[in-house]
Amino acid sequence: MPPSRQIILVVEDEAVIAETIVYALQTEGFTPVWKTTGREALAVLAKEPVAFVVLDVGLPDMSGFDLCRELRKRHAVPVIFLTARSGEVDKVVGLELGADDYLAKPFSPRELTARIRAVLRRSNGPTAPAAAPAGWTHDAAKCRISFRGKTLDLTRNEYRLLGALLAAPGRVFSREQLMTAAWDDPGASLDRTVDAHIKTLRAKLRTAGPDADPIVTHRGLGYALREDT
Ligand code: CA
Repeated sequence: MPPSRQIILVVEDEAVIAETIVYALQTEGFTPVWKTTGREALAVLAKEPVAFVVLDVGLPDMSGFDLCRELRKRHAVPVIFLTARSGEVDKVVGLELGADDYLAKPFSPRELTARIRAVLRRSNGPTAPAAAPAGWTHDAAKCRISFRGKTLDLTRNEYRLLGALLAAPGRVFSREQLMTAAWDDPGASLDRTVDAHIKTLRAKLRTAGPDADPIVTHRGLGYALREDT
C-alpha cells in the first residue's frame, strides 16, 4: 500500500506536540488521524484500517500502557510509545506490552517518521482484524472463529490468542505479546501457559482439518499463523 493511503493514528493530548507530529507525517505522505484520548483512539481502531499507532504514555482518560494492552486484545497494529520520562522502566514496560518502538520526548519529528518507516518495513503494514487468510472466518462481534467451515469451541483465552494470530497472518508473536493479547493480567501467566494453550488450540483445529497445522512454532521466538492454510 502506498504511504499516502496509510493511516497513522496519533494519540497525544498535548496540541503543540501533536500538531508537529501531524505536520511531519503529512509531509512524509502519510494520512495522520489525531485523537487526544484513549477512548477516541479505540473507536478509530475499530473502524479504520490503521497502519500504525503513535501513542503518548500520559493521556487524560487512561495511560498509554493501558491503551496498548486494550488494543492488543484485537489489533496487531505496530505501536510506538512517546513518553516524557526517559526511564528504562518505561521502555521495558512498553516493549513487554507489545510496543514495537519507544521514543523519549523531546524528539525530532524526522526521528519519529524514520522509526515509523523502519517498523512498517518490518511488520508489512496494516493488520486489520478482518484480514483473515483463506479458510478462516473471524466474527469479532460474536467472538467466534471458524476454520474450514467449522466454528471452533474456544475458551476466552484461546479465542483471544487465536484472534491475535489471525489479525496478522505470518507475523511472529513472542510469548509475551500473546500473553498481553490473551490474558487480562499477563504478569500472572507464564511462557508455558501460552504453550499449553497453543497445544489445545492445535488439537481443536485438527477437529476441523485433520491434516491442517496452521500455527507455526518459531523456535526461540514464538508463534505465527500460516498465511496459506
Ligand atoms: Ca500527555
